[in-house]
This record gives sequence, structure tokens and C-alpha cells, in this order.
Amino acid sequence: MAADGGVVVVVPAREIAARVSELGEILSRDYADRNPLLVAVLVGSLPFLSDLVRAMSIPLEVDFLGLSRFGEGGRIRIALDTAESVAGRHVVIVEDIIDTGLTLTVLRKMLEDKGAASVATATLVDKTRRRLVDVPLEYRGFEVGDEYLVGYGLDWKGRYRNLDSLWAVLDLESLVANPDALVEVLYDSVDR
Ligand code: 5GP
Repeated sequence: MAADGGVVVVVPAREIAARVSELGEILSRDYADRNPLLVAVLVGSLPFLSDLVRAMSIPLEVDFLGLSRFGEGGRIRIALDTAESVAGRHVVIVEDIIDTGLTLTVLRKMLEDKGAASVATATLVDKTRRRLVDVPLEYRGFEVGDEYLVGYGLDWKGRYRNLDSLWAVLDLESLVANPDALVEVLYDSVDR
């Protein structure tokens, strides 16, 4: 792990690749003959989705959902709905990170209300210790601590999603002051 300029590698790219492959195999086993609909929550889940579906060896379909947040307490609404109906489908929500669990709680209920035959969640990262609500989480890549993470889909104000490792930001204040503060250290880094 390299600590430099206020960031530290939490999960290097090769570990992400190995774990996502495992999850793909597990999901393939669990969803054999069910033609699951993987519903990816935009935008942060895209690298995970892309690697996950290619690690799966069963027929499946992919769809997308965009959420927007408003008000207090994690209230969300659907900003972009799935193209396919989820009614009667075995839905696997594909998320980048579960933090308080508030988003996932609302999302699961929305999909269940729309008549999904089953709903499960696959998340790359789980911040278990920060959970405010008890919500089922069937598949997870990594359990992490409280730090703010960027990379492999996770952003700060739209930046850093395309890094292939997961990084913890130790100096969040510098990012708040300047969203580009970590560009140099993160994109020049060779320690993966
Ligand atoms: P929850 O409703 O579980 O608190 O919120 C989950 C959302 O919070 C994620 O989809 C993500 O947008 C955001 N989030 C929580 N922790 C982090 C983090 O460490 N890094 C980034 N980039 N986003 C986070």
C-alpha cells in the first residue's frame, strides 16, 4: 500500500479483478436458468458491471437506473428508469458502494413494488460500519472502513472514476477546496 499526497491504495487493481471474477462465478451458480436482469445504478457501478458480466457464464440481461437525491435523509427518486420492465424478473442490483444503506433500502422497495420476482444486490464495496438501516446485501466484493474512496467507478465531483484501483482519500479537505487536487498524484501513480 502506498501513502502519498493524502491518498492510500485500499484495494489494488489485481485484487479487484480476482474478487470480481469470484463474484461472477458465484452469481452464475446462483442464477443459473433464471436469466437475471442486472440493474446497474449509474454512474459509479459501470466498471464493476462491465467486469462482473464478463465474469459470468450464464445468459443474462443488463439494464440501467439513474437516481437523484433530494432533501435530507437519503431521499431519492428515479431520474432514469430501466428500459425493460422488471416485473417477473430476477433482478440483481449492481452498486458501487453501500454506505448508510438508505439508497439501497429505497431502491429495493421500488423494484419490489414494480413486481420483480426477486431482488438481490451485488456491491463492489461495503462500508458496513457506517450502516444506518438494516438492509439485505447478498453479494459484496470488499468490506472497507470509513474513509472516502475514489477509483474503479467511485468519484469526487465526477473525477477519478477511471482509476483501476480503489483509493482512500485521507485529506478530504484539500479535495473539497479543489476537486482536481489529487489528479497529479493519482494519475501518475505506478503503485497498484
Ligand atoms: P448510502 O445511501 O448507502 O449512504 O449511499 C450510497 C452512495 O453514497 C453511493 O452510491 C455513493 O454515491 C455515495 N458514497 C458513499 N461512500 C462513498 C465513498 O467512499 N466514495 C464515493 N465516491 N461515494 C460514496
